[in-house]
Amino acid sequence: MAPTPKDYDNIYKRLQAPISKVYDCGKKCAPYNNGEPVCCTTGHAIPIVEHSEYKLLKSRTDMWSPFKPKSAADRAEIADLKGSDCRAVECKGARHCERDNRSMACRTFPFFPYFSPDGEMVGLATYWSFEGQCWVISNLTIVEQPFIDDMMASHDLLFAADEDWRKTYRSQSATMRGVYSRKGKRFPVIGRDGKYFWVLPKSGGKMIPAKKAELMELRSGFPNFGE
Ligand code: SF4
Ligand code: SF4
Repeated sequence: MAPTPKDYDNIYKRLQAPISKVYDCGKKCAPYNNGEPVCCTTGHAIPIVEHSEYKLLKSRTDMWSPFKPKSAADRAEIADLKGSDCRAVECKGARHCERDNRSMACRTFPFFPYFSPDGEMVGLATYWSFEGQCWVISNLTIVEQPFIDDMMASHDLLFAADEDWRKTYRSQSATMRGVYSRKGKRFPVIGRDGKYFWVLPKSGGKMIPAKKAELMELRSGFPNFGE
């Protein structure tokens, strides 16, 4: 069963901490994206919400509306949503953002809960397709413990409301292992307690500790617009 609007209200209450209190990451990526944060522009990321989450948002604000495709690529991207529990939406843009009325996707981007192959939610991984565009992905050491705690607790609430979401993220985690194994590259995971790990390629998901200095080397990957 899909989460109810009330479930999403509870999830929002548990998803309050910013990624970092020190850095406003939108100011880091926007200069490379016509002055707009990358994850707040539908040209880069079309927000997807469940119908029940949309119902909650509509009861709280007029900031959100159904997404209107502007191209064939947009239409292709949202084609799979027809008849599903989810829909594509758009907000009024970063200048009109209401922090309390951001969607779950806004609050969690660029992270998703990472699951080990044996099904343990061990921490946070990032949506790899935004590497080089999202400044946070290249600066993982800025992530603070309250954000990690909120991510873990809010996803526990989501899974309690709808177990299918756990399957979704287990599958997403497996896909990420496959993508990086094919590249022959390791990828970073931030553990529940804030420790850093590498997930090694072609290893069945083996995790080894990562040094902060190693993660800081990822900074050289930002920005890579146009590459
Ligand atoms: S999360 Fe990433 S893409 Fe979004 S505003 Fe921050 S740096 Fe930019
Ligand atoms: S609601 Fe705010 S955070 Fe979410 S996409 Fe819109 S501007 Fe960005």
